[in-house]
Amino acid sequence: MTGMAAETHPKDITIDRSAGVMRVLWQDGHPSDYALRWLRANCPCATCREERRELVLNTDPLALSTTPPPSFEIAGAEFVGNYAIRFTWQDGHGAGIYAFNILRQCCPCAACNPDGPPPFVAD
Ligand SMILES: [Zn+2]
Ligand SMILES: [Zn+2]
Repeated sequence: MTGMAAETHPKDITIDRSAGVMRVLWQDGHPSDYALRWLRANCPCATCREERRELVLNTDPLALSTTPPPSFEIAGAEFVGNYAIRFTWQDGHGAGIYAFNILRQCCPCAACNPDGPPPFVAD
């Protein structure tokens, strides 16, 4: 974790539930709009990472439909120190901690990631 670089620290965070988007305005002035669906799909907690790994390995398509889909609705959000944000989803899941420096690397805007945001990979 490096210092207080403006590009990896939010000035303002707005969660627009109806649009399904979290907008981060970074201290360097750059805005990033993260789809809540993308955030949940990339939940960096150990349980979700393990589930994604099993989905990749699992070749039985019927097995994939037995798990209820996760919620993409945010119930709450809180800062973790000054380096990360943690969400609580409507289905009660809330273990994922999203570091700001990784979120910034995953900015979905065309200038930052013309081919779409890369997967959120916690180090
Ligand atoms: Zn998770
Ligand atoms: Zn960007």
